[in-house]
Amino acid sequence: MLDDPTASAWRDVLRALRAQIEWQRDCGAPWIPRIAASPAPLARRPPEPPRSAVVESPAPAAPSRMTAADLFVEPGVQSSTSLEMLRAHIGDCQRCKLAGGRTNLVFGVGNATADLMFVGEGPGGDEDLQGEPFVGRAGQLLTEIITKGMRLARSDVYIANVVKCRPPGNRNPEPDEIAACMPFLSRQIELVAPRVVVALGTFAAQTLLGVKTPISRMRGVWHDYRGVRVMPTFHPAYLLRNPGDKKLVWADIKLVMAELGLPVA
Ligand code: URA
Repeated sequence: MLDDPTASAWRDVLRALRAQIEWQRDCGAPWIPRIAASPAPLARRPPEPPRSAVVESPAPAAPSRMTAADLFVEPGVQSSTSLEMLRAHIGDCQRCKLAGGRTNLVFGVGNATADLMFVGEGPGGDEDLQGEPFVGRAGQLLTEIITKGMRLARSDVYIANVVKCRPPGNRNPEPDEIAACMPFLSRQIELVAPRVVVALGTFAAQTLLGVKTPISRMRGVWHDYRGVRVMPTFHPAYLLRNPGDKKLVWADIKLVMAELGLPVA
């Protein structure tokens, strides 16, 4: 649900302006600072009693504060206090050009208070048809990592993507599409308040962290997204093509398991 038409029009203008600025920055304009690289910590939900599979929560994160990036976020996103409200706010989204090609908007799935969240790039063909992230071949491999590797159920974790609609031909999402969709992922992370986010693949890791570093240099090392620990690792689709690198992903997943206090076999 959008607010009054004037505010909505202004947000469209600001979103277009932001996409243009980000595009210029990505093209190397040195005078444009990176506002996505070190945004404010997310507001965290209050600590809950520890769940069976995890250790105590770390110290609470600093309270959220407004940044330049937050000026571009629709008020309805910040005022959504649950994933259901956020999904309802997004509605039959027409905010970017991916809307025209989708069958289903793929919002996210799983435990709304998960300690562990996986973030991929965007829905593929299977996900577009079923409306659920990571249900195709790459998704089956991710499910195996969760169930066989981590000995969790898929329903224990939360799974989402940077963009919620399938890019045509599975191309990479474009800057304006990311700019339109990123506030939703950001709010999902804020609402779920996981202790760890696993960024699957180059695109998710670079987008979340606001960097252009290759995934091969980011993986295996802890990073930070607004006060949440982020472990980048290879995308399952990459592993299908390069099964020899599964051992690297397993090494990354073991770091995640240790961080969450999960027993590593
Ligand atoms: N690849 C992704 O990045 N996300 C999905 O949901 C499926 C495949």
